[in-house]
Amino acid sequence: MESIKEIFKIGYGPSSSHTMGPALASQIFLTKNPNASSYKCILYGSLALTGKGHLTDYIIKKTFQERPIEIVFDYDKVYKYHPNALKFFAYDQKKNLLDEWLVFSVGGGSLKELNEDRKTFDKSIYPHYKMNEILAYTASNKLNLAEYVLKYEKEDLLTYLKDILQQMQKTINQGLIAEGILPGGLNVKRKAHILYQEYLKNPLIENQIYAYALATSEENASGNLVVTAPTCGSCGVLPAVLFALKKQNQISDERLLEALMIAGLIGNLAKTNASISGAEVGCQGEVGVACSMAAAAVCYLNGGSNEEIEYAAEIALEHHLGMTCDPVDGLVQIPCIERNAIAAIEAYNVAHYAKLAGSLHNITLDSVLEVMKETGKDLHTKYRETSTGGLALHKRT
Ligand code: SF4
Repeated sequence: MESIKEIFKIGYGPSSSHTMGPALASQIFLTKNPNASSYKCILYGSLALTGKGHLTDYIIKKTFQERPIEIVFDYDKVYKYHPNALKFFAYDQKKNLLDEWLVFSVGGGSLKELNEDRKTFDKSIYPHYKMNEILAYTASNKLNLAEYVLKYEKEDLLTYLKDILQQMQKTINQGLIAEGILPGGLNVKRKAHILYQEYLKNPLIENQIYAYALATSEENASGNLVVTAPTCGSCGVLPAVLFALKKQNQISDERLLEALMIAGLIGNLAKTNASISGAEVGCQGEVGVACSMAAAAVCYLNGGSNEEIEYAAEIALEHHLGMTCDPVDGLVQIPCIERNAIAAIEAYNVAHYAKLAGSLHNITLDSVLEVMKETGKDLHTKYRETSTGGLALHKRT
């Protein structure tokens, strides 16, 4: 597995696969072909179908700045390797082709080329790929999961994660004071500030978690800076529980960093063994995985053992299996924003449940990840970030 830094990235919303990935791909292609006279980019599959709502064309044009680039939406062709494909072309003055590049935005802002192995990443730094292997290793070496992460990551991890926590906090703060209607035309009203006022009147942790999750997800829907956790669409879940618990239980920054590492490890396992892309496996891979990461982090903060943490991560994901991705108008707003708030509360409750119920359970996290991948393959394409079915067809007029 790669570094957990690949799970947590700071970038502009609303979608890690539809904005952050394509922006990175545009930069790479531009760096390779700085002197071309014109460019073209074809968007395929989910990038074509929800690219407008997710601002894919906007971000590509923005990255190419003043350079002429034609964006084509191909709604029919879908690559088997991954549904988020984009192909760049560079031309000289006489329209001769200079270069072309087919690339896939596979979730969380990461890129892959056609048929590139999704498991054996170039930058693998962990020797284990499965949670069961990690649990066996940590048991025989008497390590907790945060110590395990620190053993394999580079020294700069703590500095990197401190910046991540800082950005998460900034995004929450901004989202709590912002008011008005979100962009995109759906007329969705920001609600985080309303829920926050409720929390101030009635300081229950549940009210605080709702307010924080909405704050982050509304910032994402506005195209502002967020942290992927593991994606932009699901970025509200983890920060909500981390910062609510920090405030309620006076948790030190050091413990919070350790909880973040554990969440990153769970996200990494999901990305390596299944997928964190809504276009590939539906929302179970985005909000489902975010809930699993958050439940693991909360379980750790509640004093959970490695086995209890695995149980918390497993239950949280198990009960999101099959969850579809059908955003209305291709915007990351309905059902995405409220789904983050509900998943955050679920993560908080699941962590409590896992400690109460003990770690003995029949289904492992590794099994649930396998099932999530299989279920994702079986989901009809209309439920995989194409906005051609489900809630996307039930817009109130
Ligand atoms: S429904 Fe879930 S996976 Fe789909 S865009 Fe919204 S948050 Fe992302």
